[in-house]
Amino acid sequence: MKMLIGGRWVDRDEKIEVIDPYDNSVVDTVPSGNEKDVLAAIESAARGFETMRRLPTHERVAILRRTAEFVARDKEKFARMIAREGSKTIREARKEAFRCSNTLQIAADEARKIVGETVNFDAAPGSENRVGYYYRFPIGIIAAITPFNDPLNLVAHKLGPAFAGGNAVVLKPATVTPLSALLLAEAFLEAGLPPEALQVVTGRGDRIGDVLVTDPRVRMISFTGGPEAGESIARKAGLKKIGMELGSNSPVIVMADASFDLAVECSVSGAFWAAGQNCIGVQRIYIEKPIYEKFADAFVARTKKYKVGPKLEEDCDMGPMITEGEAKRIESWVNDAVKAGATLLAGGKRRGAVYDPTVLADVPEGARVGCEEVFAPVVSLYPVENLEEAVRLSNGTDYGLLAGIFTSSIENAFYAIREMDVGGIIVNDSSDYRVDQMPFGGVKRSGLGREGIQFALLEMTEPKVVCFNLQGIGR
Ligand code: NAP
Repeated sequence: MKMLIGGRWVDRDEKIEVIDPYDNSVVDTVPSGNEKDVLAAIESAARGFETMRRLPTHERVAILRRTAEFVARDKEKFARMIAREGSKTIREARKEAFRCSNTLQIAADEARKIVGETVNFDAAPGSENRVGYYYRFPIGIIAAITPFNDPLNLVAHKLGPAFAGGNAVVLKPATVTPLSALLLAEAFLEAGLPPEALQVVTGRGDRIGDVLVTDPRVRMISFTGGPEAGESIARKAGLKKIGMELGSNSPVIVMADASFDLAVECSVSGAFWAAGQNCIGVQRIYIEKPIYEKFADAFVARTKKYKVGPKLEEDCDMGPMITEGEAKRIESWVNDAVKAGATLLAGGKRRGAVYDPTVLADVPEGARVGCEEVFAPVVSLYPVENLEEAVRLSNGTDYGLLAGIFTSSIENAFYAIREMDVGGIIVNDSSDYRVDQMPFGGVKRSGLGREGIQFALLEMTEPKVVCFNLQGIGR
């Protein structure tokens, strides 16, 4: 496929191969964009913004609605592309395609709700004869930088609110999974998006990232990815808005009074969705001691039933990791933990990029699988005396995106809600629960700001205040 700059599909001699990590086949190639391409994209986006900011709300709504319909119409095409270029199974990919259509539909709905309000100027002495209001205007050019693990819906989480608010976008998708984003760009153009409102530059972040994030014409960087890249971008960005959706090592607490089967089923699914490459994937499970053994047995039994293998087969439960290098990384983290005293209850085997669903117990303090983000199908089980201990251990990391708690006690639930240092708590489901309209984001190294269309739209627009001095009107 080609990249999109200035309303045209642009190619380059230098190419990047997009590889299916399961069998190493080449899915397609994309041009390797360079610094000049980024500058051309920003210049085009500046013209695109002039069109977008003048586009009436009903036209922006219609474009978003039509794009949502096209994604729904072509859902199988989108799902196969997600599954082939990335890690997801075809069933996981279909859910992402469905969510993408829904995300754009929500963006269309939210575009109609962008309003301001009157300001009570005369509450301040000396402003008796003043009236006015504020309304929200688009921020301008937004650089959207996206990761590999949800290559379609996380792009929609940036493009949807950006266009709902009347902005223009330069999108840099992950180099390993750029194709779903390019398909979405095709759908937007077919839906009538002004051609220069969206540029998609394919190219490596370490080559083209600096030009994109340091350019003063870019007014906001909306980034989803790892904390290292996020911090590096934040340092270089200069005076512009930044939205950062970063990683985590999400905890789930299972109390003895929980609905047992629900807790097992949801935690297993949350640990191994997208081969564990999921920012809200279940990584650490704290289980009250009276049910620890029973929970561990049930969790391991369920894990061992997982069918791991060819992503496009309907009964496949889990695909490969995104690259063999990533699978080797987690293999060495698990081996290190086992050498330091952890017990391997299931998995621990690698074949190429495939790493089997893995369950650990007795993980010693300080092991990387416990305190860093695994971003892999690896979960650790910990027995705890009580809720206080579970919450203390849950909070003892640098991250804080979502957390889950399984309990039938409202007191337990409210204790966790009050004390857990995270961007969201899911009661009676795992941390791996998200709908696209909810405020989504984290604390500590998990990020800055919130996505979820309504909340992203606030970040992507700014209030402009209008004040009339009635004395100047003369009556
Ligand atoms: P990543 O390596 O940080 O890459 C994310 C994006 O940033 C890619 O497009 C990458 O480009 C680009 N990039 C890297 N360095 C850059 C630089 N210096 N300047 C500009 N762009 C740069 O993350 P990933 O491996 O794709 O995704 C996994 C991470 O994303 C995990 O930590 C996960 O938790 C996080 N994540 C967070 C959320 C959330 O909503 N909180 C959702 C999903 C994923 P290249 O591909 O060319 O390197």
